[in-house]
Amino acid sequence: MKPPPFRYVRAGSLEDALSALASEGDEARLLAGGQSLIAMMNLRLVRPSALVDVNGVSELDYIRSDDATLTVGALTRLSAAEASQEIAGACPLMSEAIGHIAHRPIRNRGTVGGNLAHADPSSELPAVALAVDAQMVVQKYGAVRRVAADDFFVGALTTSMAPDEALTAIEVPRAPGGQGWSFMEVSPRKGDYALVGVAVTLSVEDDRCTACRVVYTGNGDRARRIPEAESAVVGEAAGASTFAAAGDAAGRHIEPNSDLHASGQYRRDIAAALTRRAVAQAAARCAQEG
Ligand SMILES: Cc1cc2nc3c(=O)[nH]c(=O)nc-3n(C[C@H](O)[C@H](O)[C@H](O)COP(=O)(O)OP(=O)(O)OC[C@H]3O[C@@H](n4cnc5c(N)ncnc54)[C@H](O)[C@@H]3O)c2cc1C
Repeated sequence: MKPPPFRYVRAGSLEDALSALASEGDEARLLAGGQSLIAMMNLRLVRPSALVDVNGVSELDYIRSDDATLTVGALTRLSAAEASQEIAGACPLMSEAIGHIAHRPIRNRGTVGGNLAHADPSSELPAVALAVDAQMVVQKYGAVRRVAADDFFVGALTTSMAPDEALTAIEVPRAPGGQGWSFMEVSPRKGDYALVGVAVTLSVEDDRCTACRVVYTGNGDRARRIPEAESAVVGEAAGASTFAAAGDAAGRHIEPNSDLHASGQYRRDIAAALTRRAVAQAAARCAQEG
């Protein structure tokens, strides 16, 4: 299959890319790894008038961290992020989740920014972004703004970015010492998109859970927290009955779709089991880290 015709613009710098987005009009799209965009074009699901290729924009390909923040440039390949010791130290949840994305050849081309901007409801990284309270750095020609992950993902394959804006980086607060984490999912085959996945961050002090985020992928049109699962944990003892209560709350409050891959009820049952196990794993990691 071949894509419909489009104008090709090769950007040599971020400024080039933003200027091209500003001048090419609303139907232009950035081309990053092309792992989702080219398939969608071949299937005629999207028909961009122009592709602005950012693969030569090396200033978007970096991983940096200091005492407070981890910053990952949008053009960082998923496999580079997966192997990064800097990410493993500052945001181990991200490292763990990336290992679940697709297959290695796709991770070798696919980018962190492309994955987040694509905003697939079954994608792992949007759930991570919500779980760690990330900020998305969004730029257009002459302007930059930061958007909380909660406000960035607005629907299936839809973000709050305007057509002339690009995601240039994701900023993640460094995981506090002693914080536990877990990412778990069930997919039909290894490398497939998940039926349901859960990202958990948890803090425990004196055997009591003091903070918790529980975020789901494969639950409706975008990654979502389930506050009822979080409040079943916060303030409670870090033990089996709390983990079970979190799972029960997730099973009651998650609202997944039914489709040809699985029924909504099956996804609810998986969410309950994964939540119980993931909160337990996060608590065990708190004990190791603390
Ligand atoms: C067989 C297969 C299995 C997969 N399984 C999974 C999976 O399990 N989990 C998962 O999360 N993903 C999965 N993917 C998708 C894969 O992770 C892609 O890499 C990712 O979704 C898109 O990244 P990309 O860099 O290739 O972006 P592209 O395909 O180049 O772009 C995707 C979209 O994002 C836009 N875009 C790209 N970069 C930017 C930017 N910096 N700013 C603004 N917009 C931008 C593009 O214009 C386009 O609309 C799978 C893909 C395949 C082919």
